[in-house]
Amino acid sequence: MESIRGVAASPGLVVGPARVWRRRPPLLDRARNRPLQPDAERARLAEALSASREGLLALRQQLEEKLGEEHARILDAQILILDDPDFLATVHRGIDEQGLSAEMAFTRAMAEALIPLDLSEDAVFRARIADFRDVEQRVVRALLGDDSPVPRLESDVILVTDQLTPSETAALDLQHVLGFCVDQGGDLGHTAILARSLGVPAIVGLGYASRRIADGVQLALDGTAGWVHVQPDTDTLSRFRVRIARRRRAEERLLKLKGFPAETPDGRRVELSANVELPQEVDLAVAHGAQGIGLVRTEYFFFQHPRIPSEQEQFEYYRSMVVEIGEGPVIFRALDAGGDKLIASMGGVREYNPFLGLRGTRFLLSQPEILRTQLRALYRTSAFGRIRIMFPMVSDLEEMRALRAHAASVLEELQGEGVACDPDVEIGIMIETPAAVLLAPELARECDFFSLGTNDLTQYVLAVDRTNHRVAGLARAQHPAVLRAIARTVEAAHAAGIWVGCCGEMGSNPMHAVLLLGMSLDEISVSAASVPLIKKVIRTVRYDQAKSWAAQVLKMSTVSEVDSFLFARAHERLRDFLDAEGGNGS
Ligand code: PEP
Ligand code: MG
Repeated sequence: MESIRGVAASPGLVVGPARVWRRRPPLLDRARNRPLQPDAERARLAEALSASREGLLALRQQLEEKLGEEHARILDAQILILDDPDFLATVHRGIDEQGLSAEMAFTRAMAEALIPLDLSEDAVFRARIADFRDVEQRVVRALLGDDSPVPRLESDVILVTDQLTPSETAALDLQHVLGFCVDQGGDLGHTAILARSLGVPAIVGLGYASRRIADGVQLALDGTAGWVHVQPDTDTLSRFRVRIARRRRAEERLLKLKGFPAETPDGRRVELSANVELPQEVDLAVAHGAQGIGLVRTEYFFFQHPRIPSEQEQFEYYRSMVVEIGEGPVIFRALDAGGDKLIASMGGVREYNPFLGLRGTRFLLSQPEILRTQLRALYRTSAFGRIRIMFPMVSDLEEMRALRAHAASVLEELQGEGVACDPDVEIGIMIETPAAVLLAPELARECDFFSLGTNDLTQYVLAVDRTNHRVAGLARAQHPAVLRAIARTVEAAHAAGIWVGCCGEMGSNPMHAVLLLGMSLDEISVSAASVPLIKKVIRTVRYDQAKSWAAQVLKMSTVSEVDSFLFARAHERLRDFLDAEGGNGS
């Protein structure tokens, strides 16, 4: 048995077969190593083009049957590229005159074709890039004998991979994923967040695990402690069985709180909601007793679309969530593109420092068409339930004013068209940047609510890349600098008479949730699977006690002091259910 340690990213234990998926080595390296015959390359290309055309036609037919001709037509642009004589002539010249492999010739011709599109700043125009990239991927995969962008899963497996982007995660058949083992990434990256939300154990930052683990071998994955055991011995397996059973019992006990409010023994009520990326998580949120949805990461809907989704498509999707959740409010976050959330249908521009780049609100304001389409869909949704709209990554008061102006004019436009919508939808922002914290008093006067995005706030306050496993251990929301930023935000919000919540992962950690409670947050939104545990925490700790702990912690200057204090005080009070495998808040 070999044991490999990584970053515990989603708690829980599971035993199952490994499905190893590594990206193939870069094209150029492989193509360089073999002698090339132009005729053979042309023949390979012809075969790949015809397989790709067939694949696209089949997909077109499926779309037509499921969604109608209008949706199916979006693939026509891709089919046309495959038949474009000028484009194909460039590819053939690459093979005949430059002695390139079919892959290289195709990729180079594509790069050339993309130049004018790439220079454009217009997202809708840039969206054409996605068609080209999709075709490129399809043809290159056909040339390499790879037929799927993510592995097709037909049975339950533990997915072992070198890296996983949010859009790849969304494309997986998640019902067959028992657990994740990922070489790269930190526990605030989106694969980790999604795994926690779905209650799937995960370890990230495993280094070279995907090279060390052979496809098909048995794994015992401990997402709580961050260990994966390869070909576990019988002792380990029997320990896992006992712990899995204990954890299940603890979960069942916690689920009994489903119908109860998140209220402390001395009467402080907190709105306890769930974060949602994929539609199936709405069910999970309801099943776990969430009061509403505190964050819909709308990016995930965009990931799953071959094109930027239309107003109608977005409206139908948002409305289905609102209808399903019933009474509770649903906070839709406007598209948070950028950072690690590259949206292929928008031409996904790569930046050197994407987390400091054209992200969140900056992107939205640079693409008013996309912003306004989403706002129209959201206002239309407001006629079907209680919704709130939230903007990500705000760092400036003028951004906030521009966003509000768009919202007001979209509302006026819809009312002019006689479309039913709620004119009083609350509009808030995420507090994710140090600038937003420092400007919180001014921002609070122009917002209806704040929601602390502690994943990004931690990243930006501490200058720690949340996706980089080499510094993952430094991304700590309980760092005194982050805690003081939170306290300052709450103070500014309450002074201006608005409510403040937290939708970052900090709320899913029971000990940190105690601090949020003690810092007087009004709402906490956590991964769906964590709702019962956090509710238990809130129902156990008195508010006055939590306030006193938070006040003491806010005077501390190091993470070690905070951790030992929390361990000695909060853990002491919560030990009964934290020690069961029900969750340790990792
Ligand atoms: C956050 O930054 O805390 C947050 C909730 O947003 P995301 O994780 O999607 O960036
Ligand atoms: Mg964020």
